[in-house]
Amino acid sequence: MPQPTARLMDGTALARRTISAAADRAAEITRRTGTAPCLATVLVGEDPASVTYVRMKRNRCEQVGIRSLHVALPTTASTAELVDTIGALSADPAVHGILLQHPVGPHIDERAAFEAIAPEKDVDGVTMHSFAAMGFGLPGFVSCTPGGILRLLDAYGVELAGRHAVVVGRSPILGKPTGLLLLGRDATVTYCHSRTADLPAHLARADVLVAAVGRPRLILGEHLKPGAVVVDAGYNPGNVGDVDFDSAAARASLITPVPGGVGPMTIAVLLEQTVHAAGRQLGVPATA
Ligand code: NAP
Repeated sequence: MPQPTARLMDGTALARRTISAAADRAAEITRRTGTAPCLATVLVGEDPASVTYVRMKRNRCEQVGIRSLHVALPTTASTAELVDTIGALSADPAVHGILLQHPVGPHIDERAAFEAIAPEKDVDGVTMHSFAAMGFGLPGFVSCTPGGILRLLDAYGVELAGRHAVVVGRSPILGKPTGLLLLGRDATVTYCHSRTADLPAHLARADVLVAAVGRPRLILGEHLKPGAVVVDAGYNPGNVGDVDFDSAAARASLITPVPGGVGPMTIAVLLEQTVHAAGRQLGVPATA
């Protein structure tokens, strides 16, 4: 039985601190302007997992003093209806951030719906504007999960400049932006995906490994470079990540647990970015 040697990167604790700071800032904005930060959530249909995610996000908002406005559209909603709904929220000065829960269903043009979010309200970091800002290293909203991953690496003092980071997965909301953010911090980045030949050869060269696949226990301890830093963003049925935790923890220096690693940081970054958006729109600078 392999003995764990890795230190845990505790996303729950870091998220608690991040959310507490966001709550303080939300209170300050409300006190100074008489208006609470507001996040609008948009849900199409009644997929049980999506309903649960939206409920969790709304509950969290209320706990930190962010007003939550929910718009539920029927499964039959068209792309045009969804784009109109999001366009109206983008134009509404009482709404400071917009989150479209995805996936939205195969009959809807998801990209068109995301692009209806005004850039200054894209607190989930899903628009092309936000993606480009991440790519150029300019100020803007980051995708929440990749932003949370970088915050975890920073909180645990992980040096990125000059290190080889391997990101497994290239989805637009997770793998690709994570690689962009790591590149922006001077890591040498390799992307792997379903067409990558000889995945183990790439994994073995990773100083920092980010698993963002959605395949339970795809990555084993034997694949890792000894002392690697392992971030497991995968979340599969049964609370199982993409990394086989026990064997990986015996070889890594730092590792995120599943659950309690990346997941809590995603919502923390969403709340932080919502409060930041509200502060800018309501004219309360962060240093005030
Ligand atoms: P996705 O859109 O399905 O993307 C999965 C990626 O993995 C794709 O790029 C795919 O390659 C790649 N892939 C699939 N099989 C592979 C294999 N055998 N070897 C190497 N790469 C492979 O998924 P996602 O939305 O990025 O989510 C990925 C995981 O992260 C899921 O478990 C999801 O639940 C989790 N997640 C967690 C959070 C959080 O807050 N913790 C947030 C978002 C997602 P191709 O591009 O070639 O198809």
